[in-house]
Parts: sequence; C-alpha cells; structure tokens
Amino acid sequence: MKTRDDRTPVTLSRRAFLDIARTFGLAVMASTTPCTKVWAQPLFRAYPFTLGVASGDPLPDGIVLWTRLAPEPLAGGGMPMVAVEVDWEIASDARMRRIVRRGSELARPELGHSVHAEVDGLEPGREYWYRFRVGRERSPVGRTRTAPAPGAPLARLRFGTCGCSNYESGHFTAFRHLAQERFDFVFHSGDYIYEYRADGGERDKVRQHAGDELYTVVDYRNRYAQYKSDPDLKAAHASAPFIVTWDDHEISNNWAADADERGTPPEVFLLRRAAAFQAYYEAMPLRRGAFPGATQLRLHRGFRFGDLMSFDALDTRQYRSTQACGAGGRSGCGAFADRTRTMLGPEQERWLDARMTSSRSHWNVLAQQVPIFGGGADGLPTNNPHVLDQWPGYPAARRRLLDSIAERRLDNVVFLSGDVHLHWGASVPLDLREPDRRQVAVEFTNSSITSGGDGADAAPWWHAIRADNPHVGYHSARRGYLACEVTPETWQTDFMIVDRVASPGGTISRGGRLVVERGSPVAHAS
Ligand code: FE
Ligand code: CA
Repeated sequence: MKTRDDRTPVTLSRRAFLDIARTFGLAVMASTTPCTKVWAQPLFRAYPFTLGVASGDPLPDGIVLWTRLAPEPLAGGGMPMVAVEVDWEIASDARMRRIVRRGSELARPELGHSVHAEVDGLEPGREYWYRFRVGRERSPVGRTRTAPAPGAPLARLRFGTCGCSNYESGHFTAFRHLAQERFDFVFHSGDYIYEYRADGGERDKVRQHAGDELYTVVDYRNRYAQYKSDPDLKAAHASAPFIVTWDDHEISNNWAADADERGTPPEVFLLRRAAAFQAYYEAMPLRRGAFPGATQLRLHRGFRFGDLMSFDALDTRQYRSTQACGAGGRSGCGAFADRTRTMLGPEQERWLDARMTSSRSHWNVLAQQVPIFGGGADGLPTNNPHVLDQWPGYPAARRRLLDSIAERRLDNVVFLSGDVHLHWGASVPLDLREPDRRQVAVEFTNSSITSGGDGADAAPWWHAIRADNPHVGYHSARRGYLACEVTPETWQTDFMIVDRVASPGGTISRGGRLVVERGSPVAHAS
C-alpha cells in the first residue's frame, strides 16, 4: 500500500536499472515489464538498517514509523541513486505474530533513503511493535504506543523528556536507561546533534565527530548517521515513540530565523538552513505535515492524551527575532525592550492561543527548547549572554505568552525545556524580578544526555544565588533525563541522573522528585 503522496511509480529504463544494479552488486529480479518497482528484491552488500528504527508523533489511531537505509552510514548512506520500496508491518505482539497493518513506502534518494510510514487504523492507547523489510533484510523490532482516545478519561500517563546529546561529550548511557523505562512517549527538547567539526566545540571529549563543521545536506546526514549508529540511542528510539523539536545545534549555534551568530548574509545562511532542515526531517519520525519545503519545516504541532493532557510542541527558533544587544550581552540596550520582538512568530502565537482556548485537558504542556522561568547556564541573572538566547531575553514575547495563559485562566500549565545542560524544576513567575509572586505555571528543564561531560551535583554558582530564587524547587548539574507521571490530581517529575558519561557503564539514580498539585503553579519536594 502506498501513501497518498507516493502514487508516482519510479520510471527507470531496464537498461539503466541493470547498469546501476551491476555497479552496486544488487540482484535483479527477471522482469519483462518496465521497472515500476525498483529493487523490489535488492541484495545489499552490507546491512541497510544500521541506523535502527524509530516511531513518533502518536495519535489515537496512528503513528509514524521511521527508518533510513544506510549500508554505509558515515559515507552518505551508501545507497545507489534510485528509489527503493521498503515494506513495513505493525503487530499487536512483540514477536510480530499478530500483524494488524502492513504496507510499503518508497525510500527516495532525494531524501537520503529515509522512510516515514504514517500508519492509521490502530487502536487508541495501546502498545504495538513494528519492523521493516527490504529484499532479504529485516530491521530490528521497535516498540511503540498510540495516544489514548481524545477526551476520554485517562487515569495516568508516564513519559520521558531529554535533550542535548553531544556525541563528543560522553556515552549515551542516559539513553540506555531511558530505553528501559518503556515510556508512553519521549519528548526530545533539541540539540539532538551538534554541528561542530571534529576538533571543535568540546574540550574534554570522550568521542570524536567525523568530518568538518556541517554545511551541506550530506554533512548533516552523515552526522545524524554517526549519532544514530550508537546502540544506546537506537535502543531509546526502539523503546517508545518520540515527539521531537529542535534547538539551535541541529542547524547552527544560537541561530534565529534567517540569522546565525556570525553575521552571515541571510541569503547565504538560508542555504545552510535548508540543508539542515531537510536532514532533520530525514532523520526524525515526523509526519508529512512537517515536510521541509525550500524555506521552512513546520515543527509546531499539538497532541491530546485523553482528557488528561494537551501537549503542544513549539518551535522558538525558526520564527524568532534576533537576540538583543549582540554578543556583548547587555540587557540595557534598546532592542531588549522592543515590544515587537517575538519568539514564536505571529502565526504560531495565534495557533497556540487557539490551542489553549480550546483545551479541556487537566494539564496543558508547552514542550519547547529554552527555559522561561529565568534560569540559564551561567547563573540566573537575566543580563548574562546565555539568557539573551532564552525567553528572558525576549521580555515582551515572554510577557505576551504568560498574559495569554493568565487571561484564559488556564490552570495546570507546565513548560518543558532543555538547552542549558542542567536539571531545573521551578515556578514560572509573571515578573522575573518578583520570582515568588504571581506564578502562572511550572517548568521542568531536562539536563543533557551528555553535553557538559560528567557534571556535578550543582553548578558552581548555584549556592550563591539560591536564596534569591525561592521559585526553584530542584537543581542539578548531572546528566540524565526526566520521568514525568501525570494523573488528574498530580504531576510528578523524577529527575533521573547518571553518575558518569565519560566512561561507559554509568549507573542511574533518582536525584530528586517534585510534585505539582492540580490548581497550584508550585512544584514542591516529595
Ligand atoms: Fe545543548
Ligand atoms: Ca541549545
């Protein structure tokens, strides 16, 4: 079964087909008809499913299944420049005996032979297992889970959040432990890859990037492939559906709309951005609705989990105004207070307002990249350069969003974020100068999977500023992920930390737990 978008058969002359087949050592099925199915039975010189499998964007009746054919993952993929038909099947049991749906998708050379199969007709709120087949090759089996029926009473949901997985900074041990949780779904807050060249970026590196800084689609493609060759990351994807968003390093450090931090002319930066957008789509379990045209990739999208949780994934990078005050990081410059500056852009702001207006859910989650409660990587004061890249660096946009929440009397709003390589649990105050007054939401910021290396129990400056920040309930500078368990009455976040990432085999433990009671924007220790 082909999808709506894949009706066009591949037309390739039999002669060209045989030429390519000879070149790549592929077995050709004898056929007298033109090749409408290119390589229905291809034979690969190397295993094509080196990047594993993934699923994502769970709906009540469906899921996206992802893989990418890459027998030579670090060298552009190693596939010939023709389309290949890939079969998929999804079962209600882990042994793949009770198949409930099957179909096939074209893996196109233009899209790096990635496969995005949008499966529908599934049942809400249940586990499934899936795999792919091409020629005689079978992929590993992945586990996934559909969203519960919309609006229906839901007693409990359990999901993970993670981000900032710099390959060079350490082993993906936290991904391995996250995989063992078998979450209902996993949110990735961005910095899935880092764009730096092999000898750039990290100082105390544990592993090394392949290649130079990323500019072309093949550069980005190879970098995703290097990360996805890691068995711990593969295990994480195979364990649960992911809802992904990006931050800056999927494209370029601290990019904002059509600008990078080096002042590259926009028309030049946009070429790099388009390459990065395409490779991101190729590498992620995203729906066709996100498909990258030459100028954009639509990443903001909403999910509903029964009557329990609205979950809106946001994009604070693609439509934002440039950071204020340049690299100097002075919060006093004129642009800082400019009321027209935006994080989401007008269209996404309107979309989010409509989502919040129509929500009847117990909990409303805004899942995005950068902290809004005031925290930063270099201490909490809002005039440090790092924070200028986050919500506090966009005071008018921050206020517009928080006012919008307050005006709708939306209780139980939870922000999720990453970016700063620290675990934080905090209340979100309307006014950053009065952190213990007029709190409108809570925020949970996941630390990194690896970025920053082994880390410590607390950042060096934390104790000096702690007393001035009564709205912070938890802080850690260890690596790890968050485990969130949500019921109609309470939200519980476990801050999971690994003791080390510089060497393999780190152990996982719960660094802390915060609980939010329904109706109260405060996260307290339990
Ligand atoms: Fe990061
Ligand atoms: Ca970041």
